[in-house]
Amino acid sequence: MQKILNKYYKIFQLEASQGYENKAVMGGLQALGKTWPSEARENGVPESLIPVINSLLSQYAEIEPENRRKALLEIGDLLSIPDLQSLPKYEQTGASTIFDNQPARSSRQATTRQSRDREIAAQPEEQVVRSKVNIRFREIANKPMDDEAHGLEAPVSVIRGVGEKQAAHLVKLGIDKIKDLLYLFPRRYDDYSRLKTINQLNYGEEVTILARVVSVDIFRTKKGKLLVEAVVSDTTGSLRLLWMNQDWHVRYLKKDLFISVSGKIDTYLGRPVIWYPDYEPIDKQQLHTNRIVPVYPLTAKITQRWLRRTQFNTVRYWAPRVYDFLPEHLREKTRLYKTAEALLQIHFPKSMEDLEAAQRRFAFDELFLLQVGVLQQKKQWQQLVGHPYQVTDEWLAERIEALPYELTAAQKRSLAEIRSDLAKAHPMNRLLQGDVGSGKTIVAVIGMAMVIESGAQAALMAPTGILAEQHYQTIRNLLTKSKDDHPAFLEEGQVRLLTGDTGQADRMEIFEGLVSGYVKLLIGTHALIEDPVTFQNLQMVVVDEQHRFGVAQRAALRNKGDNPHLLVMTATPIPRSLQFTIFGDLDVSIMDEMPAGRLPVTTMIAYPTERERIYQNIRSQVENGYQAFIIYPLVEAGENDEIKAAVDEQVRLQEDVFPDLKVGLVHGRMRPSEKDAMMLAFRAKEYDVLVSTSVVEVGVDIPNATIMVIEGANHFGLSQLHQFRGRVGRGDAQAYCFLIPDNDSAVENHRLQVMTETNDGFKLAEVDLKERGPGDFLGTRQAGAVDLKMANLADLSLIKETRELAGRLLDDDPELDKEINQGLKEAVAAFWPQTNGAGDVS
Ligand code: ADP
Ligand code: MG
Repeated sequence: MQKILNKYYKIFQLEASQGYENKAVMGGLQALGKTWPSEARENGVPESLIPVINSLLSQYAEIEPENRRKALLEIGDLLSIPDLQSLPKYEQTGASTIFDNQPARSSRQATTRQSRDREIAAQPEEQVVRSKVNIRFREIANKPMDDEAHGLEAPVSVIRGVGEKQAAHLVKLGIDKIKDLLYLFPRRYDDYSRLKTINQLNYGEEVTILARVVSVDIFRTKKGKLLVEAVVSDTTGSLRLLWMNQDWHVRYLKKDLFISVSGKIDTYLGRPVIWYPDYEPIDKQQLHTNRIVPVYPLTAKITQRWLRRTQFNTVRYWAPRVYDFLPEHLREKTRLYKTAEALLQIHFPKSMEDLEAAQRRFAFDELFLLQVGVLQQKKQWQQLVGHPYQVTDEWLAERIEALPYELTAAQKRSLAEIRSDLAKAHPMNRLLQGDVGSGKTIVAVIGMAMVIESGAQAALMAPTGILAEQHYQTIRNLLTKSKDDHPAFLEEGQVRLLTGDTGQADRMEIFEGLVSGYVKLLIGTHALIEDPVTFQNLQMVVVDEQHRFGVAQRAALRNKGDNPHLLVMTATPIPRSLQFTIFGDLDVSIMDEMPAGRLPVTTMIAYPTERERIYQNIRSQVENGYQAFIIYPLVEAGENDEIKAAVDEQVRLQEDVFPDLKVGLVHGRMRPSEKDAMMLAFRAKEYDVLVSTSVVEVGVDIPNATIMVIEGANHFGLSQLHQFRGRVGRGDAQAYCFLIPDNDSAVENHRLQVMTETNDGFKLAEVDLKERGPGDFLGTRQAGAVDLKMANLADLSLIKETRELAGRLLDDDPELDKEINQGLKEAVAAFWPQTNGAGDVS
């Protein structure tokens, strides 16, 4: 190393004495670039420095002479060449340099300054930093910080180099305490060992390059926006960096500044560009210590460089002091990193493999804590005492025979699962999921009949009046009418409907009937829990469209009985991985089969220009006696805009497009009774076309509707589109669904393409989970579960592994009372803050 340092020291001195004219070496200093890499390796220069110095050398000729000294100092600094600070300044007529905004001085002044520079340079950096440390820190630092747990809870301002001001800025990133900082993970890593040069860039690639700023300009576009354009170059070519309406970049980007630039390669007017790149001056400290450099999320006023250095100090000291909650035997079995190691490697990874191992540890932690919480909840539920209900095979066969149709295999299977749950001495807790139209209602009804058969009561809660009403009609037909030689199961008065619209006299009758036990099956809306409803003996509760209700509402209904059996239903197919995680406390029945004879809905993507043709389609369906839905989405802004779109379109469609038809309208701002009235009128064929916002209920049965148009279809998740689509095709006729994206970019249409290829809600749900994350499936299932930062909720193999380990752990120590599990117990409690570790997400 010494050899190469001497060589460069001499060259730089010579170059300086010749006034930075690039004559110290034959062919210019850029010629050194050719031999540099091999020479550097021979001399043991850290690998990460090689490309950076290469870049600085190669561009030496192109740098303005007044910036050349700075470039040499930069190299000197990187290589730790001693005594270079004494390089004389470049002298010319009052030109200011970009690198150190100091006006050039007369030689005498320059000398004074040089000697001062030398003084500062001689002072170890440590000392400079320490002199800035505030008193409070010193006080705390004097106390032994061995009180580990307490130390991690300490405010970040006790960290060396973090003053009150910086601490205040960190709060904007959600960082209060030292442990918050430890868990502020990089959002990206730059791997300086895999840098590319500009001539190696490909369109669409995410890259990091090292380059020099050649020029910075700001333009006003025709539309009056400010466009900042910086041209950067390395020796292989140049690249444009572009920002719209972010003129502050002009202040940071100065000519001849060396920066690392990251972003996605795009083209603009045929040339390579990066829009809104990340960039920063090259960070020497990082280059020395790490090849893979963390890039942190930032807030204004905190620089990447500062945060990185702060993290480096924080992590080095504190990571080894973080408690590892995972019992040793589990950690060994899973071959995971210890928490300390994982923290070190997630911030400053030695290699990509180390980084992956660290990420895996944190992903494991999240899923494992999730599973422990969920399984504990499940076990707690299983310990509740419920009433068993058994029916004979003959009884069941009789009930099924009385139906107007054959049950599908999926319905029979689900029914058998429910039957077996009901026969147990603890309450059922089951999720019945199946596509819209798969026939969940009848399964729930026969389940309730099993309980009613023994004289107990059942209740079914639906999210809207119209759905409750629809269930009431269906169920009354099924249970209170005799069919052929099958006598009715219940009397008419034993099945009742309770909604906000139920009249006072009926209410009184219902309340009395429930208390006396005459009313066996109560169907209704929130009214079931809001009204002073008291049951004689409520033993089964069914919640339809469960995601529409909160935890408290479901609990309130359950509490009307003594640990009743619970069946929740959903028409949103839930991907398997979520069944094992967020819904892991529930037993699941899946109805993946449609009743026979149902024609799949034909789905097509249409471009906005094809609307006329679609209106023709609607017209011809209406002429054949059918009806149509047209859905308008919420596009960005707010619900109001969605409503406005629907309201405006209803007027346009009614007046301009279908003046001879009747076009109805429902939207989220209407009162529930108004919405219900409109849906009922539509069902009664008083309207031909129904314009609706996306907030309108699913699940309403309008078998006569055969055509569904979804505007702005690209704004919806596939599961949601599938839900809409399920509203048509419920009758015998062929139904159609038209998806109209509001732009025709290839990607969006690729996603919508999947809709045209499958009617399988489970497949669509899997695609949704991969592309959009779990949000679409959660409904009111909130809790900490959703807030997974490292784990991928689609990672089925890790999910299975954690579930298995959590299951075995709890079999061995159900309450986590054993000494070795105490840390884990606390971690679970911290992970499930709302429920004190009970993992209640239902
Ligand atoms: P969802 O699962 O969406 O709640 P429903 O229970 O409302 O579906 O059933 C949709 C329609 O299918 C209803 O009209 C119902 O009577 C009918 N249905 C249910 N099961 C069958 C079956 N096995 N064969 C034929 N039709 C059925
Ligand atoms: Mg339903």
